[in-house]
Amino acid sequence: ETLGPTITAGEILVEIMSTSIGAGFLEPQPLIGPFPSGAPAIFIDQVAKLGSPAGIISAVGDDDFGRLNIERLKRDGADVSAIEILSDMPTGSAFVRYREDGNRDFVFNIAKSASGMIRMTDGARELVERAGHVHVMGSAFAIPGIAEILMESVAAVKSRGGSVSFDPNIRKELLTGQADARKRLDQILGVTDLLLPSGEELAIAAGLDDEDAAVASLLASGISEIVLKRGAQGSSCLVSGKRFDCPAFIVEEVDPTGAGDCFGATYVTCRRQGRPHDEALRYANAAGARTVTRRGPMEGVSSFAELDEFIQANRSDI
Ligand code: ATP
Ligand code: MG
Repeated sequence: ETLGPTITAGEILVEIMSTSIGAGFLEPQPLIGPFPSGAPAIFIDQVAKLGSPAGIISAVGDDDFGRLNIERLKRDGADVSAIEILSDMPTGSAFVRYREDGNRDFVFNIAKSASGMIRMTDGARELVERAGHVHVMGSAFAIPGIAEILMESVAAVKSRGGSVSFDPNIRKELLTGQADARKRLDQILGVTDLLLPSGEELAIAAGLDDEDAAVASLLASGISEIVLKRGAQGSSCLVSGKRFDCPAFIVEEVDPTGAGDCFGATYVTCRRQGRPHDEALRYANAAGARTVTRRGPMEGVSSFAELDEFIQANRSDI
């Protein structure tokens, strides 16, 4: 890696989850947590865990929820200098309960938490000045002003020859009341080098339902690499004229939250290290698979040693 750290901006949260399956939080129920969380934070923690420089622009409250997140990020090697500690706001939180069909109900406290007040502080500017890659996490766009922070970071990094990845991570609960969501999506797509959609996000991004047509259109628009996340069906990488498919590792899914973030972080890190597409895809699949075997969104982040061991133990080609 010749350029500086991989950075992102967005929410840091704790996640508190129901230990039972059912519909939402309309009655008392056993809960487990707090776990460190927030899609951008999970992503950055996974980059750091792979031994690559990584930092996040964010904010937490002066409370245990904030401290447990900062401690975890620090322990795994992430740069926490651009995380502002706000004395008058609580750290963000998300309550999650799984439904029978695998869907999730959430109760979010982000907008009125420290995560809703993320600013470009001096510490954040200093991180941006060193950065070599910006990862844009779609979930962060629920935060007022985050688009400006990300676009400023993208401009600075691109002017130095750095690159940009984008995980649309569109969650309907977070999109409500966002009239200019489409405009912003197009703005980010216009500066994206590596796109990491899952499910319907590819069709939404391209404005086309057919997968091949959507991929072709996005590649023609200037995106150089598209990686499709397909959950338990694995993943595919599409670059101009070439396609790589990787089946998922077969694991017992305990908690799917964080799989996409760990997958993306691992793919981005491998590519930044100059590893070929197929190797990056295999490592990313392993990182996603390992994550779903652990309860808690950030509990399953992996080092390269852990990924090598996992891949060796789960080989399907022998
Ligand atoms: P998220 O819900 O975190 O946003 P996502 O939709 O972005 O997730 P997924 O496709 O769910 O991303 O997961 C990313 C990758 O992790 C998959 O492409 C796959 O490689 C791996 N993965 C996810 N779920 C499983 C599973 N049940 N078994 C094996 N691998 C999995
Ligand atoms: Mg996702």
